[in-house]
Amino acid sequence: MKDSMKYTIRQLQKRIDRACRSAGRDPDSVTVVLATKTVPSERILEASSFGYNIVAENRIQEAEEKIAALGDCWQELEWHFIGHLQSNKVNKVVRFASMVQSIDRMKIVRKMHRRLEKLDQSIDVLVQVNVSGESSKYGIDPSSAIPFIEKVANFDRLRIKGLMTIGLFSDDWPRVRAGFRLLKELRDEIDARSIPEVEMKHLSMGMTNDFEIAIEEGATMIRLGRAVFGERDTPDSYYWPGIETS
Ligand SMILES: *Cc1c(COP(=O)(O)O)cnc(C)c1O
Repeated sequence: MKDSMKYTIRQLQKRIDRACRSAGRDPDSVTVVLATKTVPSERILEASSFGYNIVAENRIQEAEEKIAALGDCWQELEWHFIGHLQSNKVNKVVRFASMVQSIDRMKIVRKMHRRLEKLDQSIDVLVQVNVSGESSKYGIDPSSAIPFIEKVANFDRLRIKGLMTIGLFSDDWPRVRAGFRLLKELRDEIDARSIPEVEMKHLSMGMTNDFEIAIEEGATMIRLGRAVFGERDTPDSYYWPGIETS
Protein backbone atom coordinates (compact mmCIF):
# COMPACT_ATOMS: atom_id res chain seq x y z
CA MET A 1 0.00 0.00 0.00
CA LYS A 2 2.69 2.43 1.06
CA ASP A 3 4.74 1.62 -2.03
CA SER A 4 1.81 2.17 -4.31
CA MET A 5 1.14 5.64 -2.98
CA LYS A 6 4.82 6.40 -3.25
CA TYR A 7 4.70 5.39 -6.92
CA THR A 8 1.52 7.38 -7.56
CA ILE A 9 3.01 10.49 -6.03
CA ARG A 10 6.27 10.10 -7.89
CA GLN A 11 4.41 9.86 -11.21
CA LEU A 12 2.19 12.77 -10.25
CA GLN A 13 5.15 14.94 -9.33
CA LYS A 14 6.69 14.18 -12.72
CA ARG A 15 3.53 15.43 -14.44
CA ILE A 16 3.56 18.58 -12.33
CA ASP A 17 7.24 19.20 -13.08
CA ARG A 18 6.67 18.62 -16.78
CA ALA A 19 3.72 21.05 -16.88
CA CYS A 20 5.84 23.63 -15.06
CA ARG A 21 8.74 23.20 -17.45
CA SER A 22 6.55 23.51 -20.51
CA ALA A 23 5.09 26.70 -19.06
CA GLY A 24 8.55 28.03 -18.21
CA ARG A 25 7.77 27.94 -14.50
CA ASP A 26 9.75 26.83 -11.47
CA PRO A 27 8.13 23.65 -10.02
CA ASP A 28 8.59 25.21 -6.57
CA SER A 29 6.09 27.88 -7.55
CA VAL A 30 3.26 25.30 -7.53
CA THR A 31 2.07 23.88 -4.22
CA VAL A 32 0.05 20.69 -4.03
CA VAL A 33 -2.89 20.92 -1.66
CA LEU A 34 -4.36 17.53 -0.82
CA ALA A 35 -8.14 17.52 -1.25
CA THR A 36 -8.97 14.91 1.36
CA LYS A 37 -12.75 14.53 1.38
CA THR A 38 -13.64 10.87 2.10
CA VAL A 39 -9.97 10.05 2.79
CA PRO A 40 -9.28 8.57 6.24
CA SER A 41 -6.63 10.14 8.44
CA GLU A 42 -4.11 7.28 8.02
CA ARG A 43 -4.04 7.79 4.27
CA ILE A 44 -3.60 11.52 4.77
CA LEU A 45 -0.60 10.90 7.01
CA GLU A 46 0.81 8.51 4.45
CA ALA A 47 0.58 11.14 1.71
CA SER A 48 2.15 13.71 4.00
CA SER A 49 5.10 11.38 4.54
CA PHE A 50 5.91 11.89 0.85
CA GLY A 51 6.08 15.62 1.26
CA TYR A 52 2.55 16.91 0.76
CA ASN A 53 1.48 18.36 4.07
CA ILE A 54 -1.28 20.79 3.21
CA VAL A 55 -4.67 19.19 3.73
CA ALA A 56 -7.90 20.72 2.51
CA GLU A 57 -11.29 19.61 3.76
CA ASN A 58 -14.79 20.36 2.48
CA ARG A 59 -16.86 19.70 5.57
CA ILE A 60 -16.27 20.87 9.10
CA GLN A 61 -17.51 17.75 10.80
CA GLU A 62 -15.39 15.48 8.64
CA ALA A 63 -12.33 17.63 9.35
CA GLU A 64 -13.00 17.54 13.08
CA GLU A 65 -13.32 13.76 13.06
CA LYS A 66 -9.99 13.33 11.27
CA ILE A 67 -8.26 15.82 13.53
CA ALA A 68 -9.55 13.97 16.58
CA ALA A 69 -8.31 10.67 15.12
CA LEU A 70 -4.85 12.12 14.50
CA GLY A 71 -4.28 13.20 18.09
CA ASP A 72 -1.25 15.46 18.48
CA CYS A 73 -0.09 14.75 14.89
CA TRP A 74 -2.77 16.99 13.47
CA GLN A 75 -0.59 20.04 14.03
CA GLU A 76 2.13 18.69 11.77
CA LEU A 77 -0.24 19.27 8.87
CA GLU A 78 -1.46 22.58 7.52
CA TRP A 79 -5.27 22.60 7.27
CA HIS A 80 -7.21 24.53 4.68
CA PHE A 81 -10.93 24.71 4.18
CA ILE A 82 -12.25 24.51 0.59
CA GLY A 83 -15.93 23.67 1.04
CA HIS A 84 -19.11 25.66 1.11
CA LEU A 85 -18.97 27.34 4.51
CA GLN A 86 -22.17 27.74 6.46
CA SER A 87 -22.27 30.67 8.80
CA ASN A 88 -23.04 28.46 11.80
CA LYS A 89 -19.70 26.68 11.21
CA VAL A 90 -17.50 29.76 11.14
CA ASN A 91 -16.48 29.49 14.79
CA LYS A 92 -15.39 25.92 14.20
CA VAL A 93 -13.37 26.49 11.05
CA VAL A 94 -11.12 29.08 12.68
CA ARG A 95 -10.10 26.52 15.29
CA PHE A 96 -8.20 24.35 12.85
CA ALA A 97 -7.81 26.07 9.49
CA SER A 98 -4.88 28.32 8.67
CA MET A 99 -6.51 29.23 5.36
CA VAL A 100 -10.11 29.35 4.17
CA GLN A 101 -10.11 29.23 0.36
CA SER A 102 -13.85 29.51 -0.13
CA ILE A 103 -14.76 33.05 0.97
CA ASP A 104 -17.68 34.23 -1.15
CA ARG A 105 -20.19 36.00 1.11
CA MET A 106 -20.07 39.07 3.36
CA LYS A 107 -22.11 37.27 5.98
CA ILE A 108 -19.26 34.80 6.47
CA VAL A 109 -16.66 37.56 6.41
CA ARG A 110 -18.37 39.58 9.14
CA LYS A 111 -18.92 36.56 11.33
CA MET A 112 -15.38 35.30 10.92
CA HIS A 113 -13.91 38.71 11.65
CA ARG A 114 -15.95 39.03 14.83
CA ARG A 115 -14.86 35.61 16.02
CA LEU A 116 -11.20 36.23 15.23
CA GLU A 117 -11.25 39.53 17.08
CA LYS A 118 -12.54 37.75 20.16
CA LEU A 119 -9.75 35.20 19.87
CA ASP A 120 -7.19 37.86 18.94
CA GLN A 121 -6.21 35.87 15.86
CA SER A 122 -6.17 36.31 12.14
CA ILE A 123 -6.53 33.92 9.22
CA ASP A 124 -5.45 33.71 5.57
CA VAL A 125 -8.26 33.64 3.04
CA LEU A 126 -8.77 33.28 -0.68
CA VAL A 127 -11.80 34.71 -2.41
CA GLN A 128 -13.67 32.08 -4.39
CA VAL A 129 -14.70 33.22 -7.84
CA ASN A 130 -17.05 31.42 -10.20
CA VAL A 131 -15.35 31.48 -13.59
CA SER A 132 -17.41 28.70 -15.13
CA GLY A 133 -20.45 30.79 -15.89
CA GLU A 134 -22.67 28.15 -14.29
CA SER A 135 -25.21 29.86 -12.10
CA SER A 136 -25.45 27.07 -9.54
CA LYS A 137 -21.79 27.11 -8.63
CA TYR A 138 -20.43 28.67 -5.46
CA GLY A 139 -18.14 31.63 -5.62
CA ILE A 140 -18.76 35.21 -6.57
CA ASP A 141 -19.31 36.39 -10.08
CA PRO A 142 -16.10 37.76 -11.70
CA SER A 143 -17.79 41.11 -12.28
CA SER A 144 -18.43 41.48 -8.53
CA ALA A 145 -14.99 40.32 -7.40
CA ILE A 146 -13.28 43.69 -7.14
CA PRO A 147 -15.96 45.50 -5.11
CA PHE A 148 -16.26 42.38 -2.93
CA ILE A 149 -12.53 42.30 -2.23
CA GLU A 150 -12.48 46.02 -1.47
CA LYS A 151 -15.14 45.38 1.15
CA VAL A 152 -13.43 42.32 2.63
CA ALA A 153 -10.20 44.30 2.89
CA ASN A 154 -11.80 46.39 5.65
CA PHE A 155 -11.99 43.32 7.88
CA ASP A 156 -8.38 43.20 8.96
CA ARG A 157 -8.49 39.84 10.71
CA LEU A 158 -8.95 38.20 7.31
CA ARG A 159 -5.75 38.45 5.30
CA ILE A 160 -6.59 38.16 1.61
CA LYS A 161 -3.92 36.12 -0.16
CA GLY A 162 -5.45 35.52 -3.57
CA LEU A 163 -8.22 33.84 -5.50
CA MET A 164 -9.62 30.34 -5.78
CA THR A 165 -11.89 28.71 -8.32
CA ILE A 166 -13.44 25.38 -9.14
CA GLY A 167 -13.06 25.16 -12.90
CA LEU A 168 -15.67 24.16 -15.38
CA PHE A 169 -16.53 20.44 -15.24
CA SER A 170 -16.00 19.61 -18.87
CA ASP A 171 -13.56 18.05 -21.25
CA ASP A 172 -13.95 21.06 -23.50
CA TRP A 173 -10.39 22.04 -22.59
CA PRO A 174 -10.34 25.43 -24.34
CA ARG A 175 -13.32 26.48 -22.21
CA VAL A 176 -11.70 25.10 -19.06
CA ARG A 177 -8.56 27.05 -19.91
CA ALA A 178 -10.54 30.22 -20.58
CA GLY A 179 -11.93 30.03 -17.05
CA PHE A 180 -8.47 29.75 -15.50
CA ARG A 181 -7.21 32.56 -17.70
CA LEU A 182 -10.06 34.74 -16.51
CA LEU A 183 -9.07 34.12 -12.89
CA LYS A 184 -5.45 35.04 -13.67
CA GLU A 185 -6.52 38.24 -15.42
CA LEU A 186 -8.69 39.14 -12.47
CA ARG A 187 -5.76 38.51 -10.14
CA ASP A 188 -3.54 40.81 -12.19
CA GLU A 189 -6.20 43.50 -12.26
CA ILE A 190 -6.69 43.36 -8.50
CA ASP A 191 -2.95 43.33 -7.94
CA ALA A 192 -2.55 46.44 -10.10
CA ARG A 193 -4.98 48.31 -7.86
CA SER A 194 -2.70 47.85 -4.83
CA ILE A 195 -5.62 47.68 -2.42
CA PRO A 196 -4.24 48.09 1.12
CA GLU A 197 -3.97 44.77 3.01
CA VAL A 198 -4.76 42.75 -0.11
CA GLU A 199 -2.09 40.40 -1.37
CA MET A 200 -2.64 38.56 -4.67
CA LYS A 201 -0.02 35.91 -4.14
CA HIS A 202 -2.08 32.79 -4.77
CA LEU A 203 -4.20 31.39 -7.54
CA SER A 204 -5.75 28.17 -6.28
CA MET A 205 -7.03 26.42 -9.38
CA GLY A 206 -6.76 23.03 -11.01
CA MET A 207 -7.84 19.61 -9.79
CA THR A 208 -7.11 16.04 -10.91
CA ASN A 209 -8.66 16.47 -14.36
CA ASP A 210 -7.28 19.85 -15.25
CA PHE A 211 -4.24 20.69 -13.12
CA GLU A 212 -1.83 20.79 -16.05
CA ILE A 213 -3.92 23.44 -17.79
CA ALA A 214 -4.17 25.35 -14.51
CA ILE A 215 -0.38 25.29 -14.11
CA GLU A 216 0.03 26.61 -17.64
CA GLU A 217 -2.36 29.42 -16.76
CA GLY A 218 -0.55 30.40 -13.58
CA ALA A 219 -1.89 28.30 -10.68
CA THR A 220 0.20 28.55 -7.51
CA MET A 221 -1.91 25.97 -5.66
CA ILE A 222 -3.43 22.89 -7.24
CA ARG A 223 -5.97 20.94 -5.19
CA LEU A 224 -5.65 17.23 -5.80
CA GLY A 225 -7.81 14.42 -4.48
CA ARG A 226 -8.19 11.52 -6.90
CA ALA A 227 -4.74 11.98 -8.41
CA VAL A 228 -3.27 11.02 -5.03
CA PHE A 229 -5.91 8.89 -3.32
CA GLY A 230 -7.84 7.31 -6.19
CA GLU A 231 -11.52 7.48 -7.04
CA ARG A 232 -14.05 8.30 -4.32
CA ASP A 233 -17.13 6.21 -3.54
CA THR A 234 -19.16 9.16 -2.34
CA PRO A 235 -20.47 11.26 -5.23
CA ASP A 236 -19.16 14.82 -5.25
CA SER A 237 -22.74 16.11 -5.22
CA TYR A 238 -22.74 15.25 -1.52
CA TYR A 239 -20.03 17.84 -1.01
CA TRP A 240 -21.18 20.30 -3.63
CA PRO A 241 -24.95 20.45 -3.46
CA GLY A 242 -26.25 22.26 -6.51
CA ILE A 243 -23.19 21.82 -8.70
CA GLU A 244 -23.56 20.02 -12.00
CA THR A 245 -20.52 17.72 -12.17
CA SER A 246 -21.07 15.82 -15.35
C1 LIG B 1 -12.69 17.45 -4.25
C2 LIG B 1 -12.16 18.78 -4.50
C3 LIG B 1 -10.95 18.96 -5.20
C4 LIG B 1 -10.14 17.82 -5.76
O1 LIG B 1 -10.84 17.10 -6.72
P1 LIG B 1 -10.16 15.88 -7.50
O2 LIG B 1 -10.88 15.84 -8.77
O3 LIG B 1 -10.33 14.68 -6.65
O4 LIG B 1 -8.71 16.24 -7.66
C5 LIG B 1 -10.51 20.25 -5.37
N1 LIG B 1 -11.18 21.32 -4.91
C6 LIG B 1 -12.33 21.19 -4.25
C7 LIG B 1 -13.04 22.41 -3.78
C8 LIG B 1 -12.84 19.94 -4.02
O5 LIG B 1 -14.00 19.81 -3.36
